[in-house]
Amino acid sequence: MNVTELARRLRVNTKVLLEILPGYGFDIGKKAIKIDDRTAQKVMKQWRFIKRDLEKKRLEEAEERKRKEKELRKESGQTVVLPGLLTVREFAERLNMPVTQVLTELMKNGILANQNQNIDFDTASIMAEELGFTVQSEEGGTPAQAAEEDERSNALEEALQRGDKQATRPPVIVVMGHVDHGKTSLLDTIRKANILDTEAGGITQHIGAYQTVWKDPKTEAQRPITFIDTPGHEAFTVMRSRGAKVADIAILIVAADDGVKPQTEEAIQIIKAAKLPFVVAINKIDKEGADATKAMTELSGKGVQPEEWGGDVPMVQISAKQNLHIDKLLDVLLLVADVNESAIQADASVPAVGTIIESHVDKHMGPVATVLVQAGTLRKADPLVVNEEIYGKVRAMRDDHGAQMTEAGPSMPAQIIGFKVAPEVGDVMDLHYADTAQKIDVKSKKAAQTGAVKQTVIAAQADTDDDEAKKTLNLVIKADVLGSLEAIIGSLQKMKHEQVGVKIVGKGLGNINENDVNKAEASGATVIAFNVQATSLAEESMRDRKIRFLKHSVIYDIINWAKEELEQLLDDKKIITELGQMTVKGIFRTDKKAMIVGGVVTEGKIVKDSLVRVIRDNRNIGDGKISTCQIGKQAVKEIPAGSEGGLRYEGSTKLEEGDVLEAYKEESQIQTLTLDT
Ligand code: GDP
Repeated sequence: MNVTELARRLRVNTKVLLEILPGYGFDIGKKAIKIDDRTAQKVMKQWRFIKRDLEKKRLEEAEERKRKEKELRKESGQTVVLPGLLTVREFAERLNMPVTQVLTELMKNGILANQNQNIDFDTASIMAEELGFTVQSEEGGTPAQAAEEDERSNALEEALQRGDKQATRPPVIVVMGHVDHGKTSLLDTIRKANILDTEAGGITQHIGAYQTVWKDPKTEAQRPITFIDTPGHEAFTVMRSRGAKVADIAILIVAADDGVKPQTEEAIQIIKAAKLPFVVAINKIDKEGADATKAMTELSGKGVQPEEWGGDVPMVQISAKQNLHIDKLLDVLLLVADVNESAIQADASVPAVGTIIESHVDKHMGPVATVLVQAGTLRKADPLVVNEEIYGKVRAMRDDHGAQMTEAGPSMPAQIIGFKVAPEVGDVMDLHYADTAQKIDVKSKKAAQTGAVKQTVIAAQADTDDDEAKKTLNLVIKADVLGSLEAIIGSLQKMKHEQVGVKIVGKGLGNINENDVNKAEASGATVIAFNVQATSLAEESMRDRKIRFLKHSVIYDIINWAKEELEQLLDDKKIITELGQMTVKGIFRTDKKAMIVGGVVTEGKIVKDSLVRVIRDNRNIGDGKISTCQIGKQAVKEIPAGSEGGLRYEGSTKLEEGDVLEAYKEESQIQTLTLDT
């Protein structure tokens, strides 16, 4: 048999075949033309294995090459600068790698993306590091918040270090996990587990956080613990996006009947990125079908190793609903707090420093916000210094049972009345600046926050970013996972235009709730649900209040929709074309609203059906329209420069000899959105 024939049958290049065969024990010269039939049969029979082996070698070589490239990058300290968000294609460009390779790497990390999809900084940096790059975040670049975030969190960190009387403060706990895995139930059960609940009284108020007291199993001391009780990791992510750091320890809750889900994974990423110590609560162990071991195995697969299997993450099996092992969970939390004691400290004697964790405008009381005091002590009558501006002073402080407080020390949440304008969640309160801070300009701040006209879907309002009044498309966006939320917001924020823009008035993870609806109503926003639903109450309320509600599952659709909306917001552009001038020489007839005059065209031409400005003594004293033109007895379309002619003028300003008529044309042009970026 000819070698070429064999190669054809095996679908391989002849030269390649001849190179391979000796390696697999076939004694065939590299230049052979013919091959005996028996050997050919043997090659064909073994080809399947040879091919598999070759493929394996190829992969190994590729891996080896990649490993070497990685080593090289590491050795040479190759850096890549990454923004907060970028498309896969941009990412590949920055890495100087083929897009296909980047897509494969992403896939290895469980991310199925196409090259136009956005990935966030965290994902990109993990991948870049895996490839051997040193990652730097793009300072001041897109999104500019990255730098602002850093600045904020540095400022807060510095503020928390003030004072030389640092002492252990209660730990602040945040509960994270997939929707329906039991965050709210757990927070409710813990609240009820308060050993001092006799003093509680009053009705539970959800002010964004609460403090409970638990008996230390070792010392028997009663120790306060603070819980952030905003449902979902919404609050946490919003705060994170603003650079705020409020929690000391996280509880990652995983339902034993459901296991690790997308938001569980996301919570793991967030916890790890924030370097938060954490405890896992395997919930719903009372349920039929609960399989705690399976959940633990899945967690191990995500790099969360249970202590009892030799890892470093304490896990407690609980039932939030049946109050099972909640005591154990609280004991473990205190232990974790002890281990991290050096980080959970503050000086209670310095001017108060804290973070706004909840904020809204109450119909009767006006702006009400909850601050989590993180250092120092906040007292009645203290100035409310937020972002180095004075927002008012503490008129009243209340705890989560509505009881009045006179002061709030480190790790204490306090609902405060006295803000002239509602601060934003994530804003830092720092009384250190009480003497240098300026009073806020209540009027302009309020206008910036809620300048939108109620009940109009699209509201024009001042954009806080620039001084010019800008029309904005206001949106409340909820998504199923943080990655999508950030991708959507990132893309929308790229739509910059000098006259119009998108304003995100609310964002978060999970289903649309009443709170979102309220936010949307206050700012005339459209509510967008990305892969999430609206609660039936919220849906009804949106219908009643005529709030626009859209459900989407493709980011691209949202972006297109927003672009169309923005185009509608753009005013039609007026284009004025100057046509010519005529000096009035004679008045032939004067009617109520029209005149027939004669004159000489000094410049350009005078055109039938054009608009005119009447100029007398160099001032524009009126406006009108030219409805007919004639030269001699002849009706014409236009009178050219140098010609004398007559025209019918329609307008309320009475013309006189010597007036100059300036003819012009006005056209409106529909604007399309050409984005600045
Ligand atoms: P979240 O979305 O994470 O805040 O979850 P929820 O606390 O709202 O709980 C979702 C559902 O799971 C509710 O119907 C709860 O009653 C139920 N649930 C929560 N914890 C438990 C538990 O320990 N056992 C059982 N059987 N159901 C639970």
